[in-house]
Amino acid sequence: MLPITEKFIRTNFMNASKKERTELSLPEHFDEVDWDSLDYFGWRDPRIARRAYAFVPIGGDEVRGILFQQQPPLSKPQLCGWCHDVRLPNDVVFSNAKRSGSSGRNGNTVAVYVCKNFECSFNVRNDPPSPYDGFDMDAARTSRIEGLRERAAKFAAEL
Ligand SMILES: [Zn+2]
Repeated sequence: MLPITEKFIRTNFMNASKKERTELSLPEHFDEVDWDSLDYFGWRDPRIARRAYAFVPIGGDEVRGILFQQQPPLSKPQLCGWCHDVRLPNDVVFSNAKRSGSSGRNGNTVAVYVCKNFECSFNVRNDPPSPYDGFDMDAARTSRIEGLRERAAKFAAEL
């Protein structure tokens, strides 16, 4: 995805109050993020327990910010609703997002099981062992990347 700035982050949430936008902390090493390797940008707030954020490209140059409230990981591993990595390489947590606008202010939320530290972009690029000779690894990776982008964008668009 294209790089975003701290100013963009603090002003482009769909579902965060002014207080939440002001109190958020950027992740460590924000200035070293490798944007080219990301389909969306997500992180857990380093100071506020279970608070997490994701900035998701939804088409064109548009990027939307989502504030999440995460639940603790379950003992039973879940499939991430965005990257669908069947190897379950990391914790996946139930994450709630307030709907945007008046619907959210009235308490309506949308939820998704998503990788706890938003590892999705890494997961879809991490090729599994080839299932058979001649398997088209590049095509499979491209398809995983596209699937991730579509599912994350759909979530953001429906918020
Ligand atoms: Zn994921």
